[in-house]
Amino acid sequence: MRNEIDFGSTYYMDYSPMGGLGVFAKRFIKQGDEICIMQGDIVKPTEGLDEYIITDILQISYSYCIFLRAEYRYFNHSCNANATIIDIATLKAIKDINIGEEITYNYAMTVSPNSGWKMECKCRGENDIHTISSIDFEPISKIRNYYNNKWLQYYMMPIANDILNLK
Ligand SMILES: [Zn+2]
Repeated sequence: MRNEIDFGSTYYMDYSPMGGLGVFAKRFIKQGDEICIMQGDIVKPTEGLDEYIITDILQISYSYCIFLRAEYRYFNHSCNANATIIDIATLKAIKDINIGEEITYNYAMTVSPNSGWKMECKCRGENDIHTISSIDFEPISKIRNYYNNKWLQYYMMPIANDILNLK
């Protein structure tokens, strides 16, 4: 018995194997396809990202975030994601995503250095909890791959370039 909640023709919400709810492909999504544009109100955190529940926001510049509308809060993080955020807030498939597969993106690739943000990740299973943080804590090979493929937001491209030049 499924508990899915319908969000249109591309994806639906259901329980995630990582815990809590997640968003799953309703149709085959080809690598490179745009999945959606993450929507909500623009906010300027004054006390840092910790002011918000991290899954409720998407950073779009050093100073601004989108306070996501409910349906966009359920895309989970994975360190081995099949989607990413490009432009300002466009979710794009970076792998082919099969029907029923959970749609995830790497939150760390959207979070600027020195934000102080951290999250426990269970993407490899409930018994393999590891901590993720901002982009500068990601493996350099992964940052290079995201940068070379332009799998980063506009604001993150020069940041990634700086990180790559420093290493
Ligand atoms: Zn992980």
